[in-house]
Amino acid sequence: MVLSASSINSFQTCQRMFYYDKVKHIHPTEKSDALDFGSVVHKGLECIFRWLAFEQSEKEAVRQYAFQDALTEAAERSLSQEDLCKAKALLDAYIDLYFDEDKALFDVVEVEKWFTNEVRSPKSKSGECYTVQGYWDAVIRNRMTDEYWVIEHKTAGVVTDGYLQRVNIDLQSMMYIEAVKQKYGSCAGVIYDVIKKPKHEMQTGETDEEFEARKAASKTGRVKRKVGESLTEFYNRVRAAVDDGYLIRQMVTPRQEIAKEFKSELYATCRQINHTKTFCKCTCNCLKYGTCEYMDLCCNAGNLYGLEDKYSIDAPF
Ligand code: SF4
Repeated sequence: MVLSASSINSFQTCQRMFYYDKVKHIHPTEKSDALDFGSVVHKGLECIFRWLAFEQSEKEAVRQYAFQDALTEAAERSLSQEDLCKAKALLDAYIDLYFDEDKALFDVVEVEKWFTNEVRSPKSKSGECYTVQGYWDAVIRNRMTDEYWVIEHKTAGVVTDGYLQRVNIDLQSMMYIEAVKQKYGSCAGVIYDVIKKPKHEMQTGETDEEFEARKAASKTGRVKRKVGESLTEFYNRVRAAVDDGYLIRQMVTPRQEIAKEFKSELYATCRQINHTKTFCKCTCNCLKYGTCEYMDLCCNAGNLYGLEDKYSIDAPF
């Protein structure tokens, strides 16, 4: 079985979830808003990095291309106008904060490239061999130091100290570093761009009934009607609030002991997954990130009958 970082994460969260998702290719028909938002931001960032690769690219033109790509992705995913405003505000701020510096310092080597890697036992080269695969957001080379770095973009609703600390032991980052090492001979680490989704809500105006009720409840009767915000006003408010607290860049060079540990763990996990016959339910994680999207299926003993509107079986490619 060819594994990705997300499939390994899914196996570690709940083996049954992994089985439905990666073995049976059963997926919920309703996509999560958080995933759609992340994909729209991701599309804009991909565009920025593609243009960063060209020496002649101009910041203002790239800004417009990134907005356009985000807009197209948002339309495909039916993202709300409110979320699109937030995505645009983040991309705008990202360009203001990083474009000039990145262009001066980095050669963009690859953007959104697929890789496959072999995983062998670090102890014995003659053991089983597994294949892992993934997508790099980008690989860059620092012109001053000649070092290769992987760029990893992550959108998150909440960014805690623990979230940022975990980056140091993140399986996906380690896999990417290993893949760059195999392809280019060395890799200094991962530049982790964590992009925090603003929590702002668009202000809506009052209905006639709400206004009349508020007026009636007021002692003086002198009440000003609450008017809703336009999309432009909302965008401007979000953009004004988005600063470097929403765009957190961490450069992570894993310690040697951690990288060594990762190789053993990755081999052990690949081996475990490939030898698992019974994919057990881990019910302690059913509600850990909201209600698990496979809850209905689990409660129906894995039977899709009667759940056709909730799940579909997708081809694995
Ligand atoms: S509902 Fe619970 S047991 Fe079922 S797949 Fe999700 S996490 Fe696993």
